[in-house]
Amino acid sequence: MTDKVDKILDDELLAKLKDDLLRKRAEILATSTGTRPLPASMDVNSRQGDLADQASGNNEVHIQLKLKQTDAKILQAIEEALHRMERGVYAICRDCGDPIAPARLEAIPWTRVCISCKQKQTA
Ligand SMILES: [Zn+2]
Repeated sequence: MTDKVDKILDDELLAKLKDDLLRKRAEILATSTGTRPLPASMDVNSRQGDLADQASGNNEVHIQLKLKQTDAKILQAIEEALHRMERGVYAICRDCGDPIAPARLEAIPWTRVCISCKQKQTA
């Protein structure tokens, strides 16, 4: 086993996937609230937004109630993916611990499991 799990993806791809996650999150939130997505430049500094996010926790619950079920699930998965990126365990399958193929991540950046575990789930 390698201890360089965060280097399965090169930095460029990781940055792109993070951007995709942030954009998708903004999209879902915009759809649910009727507001326009935040400019990407505001999302880049999301680390600083953590405190503000927690402060508006009640609002978030309210928003999630209005979301379609699928959107709410994707939103949750996106939040988890962003947390995994910060901990350096992004692109690791939740179920088997194997790396998730970059092509799969590009298609579904918020996925939690590798393709073979996904197939087992739906089989
Ligand atoms: Zn797996």
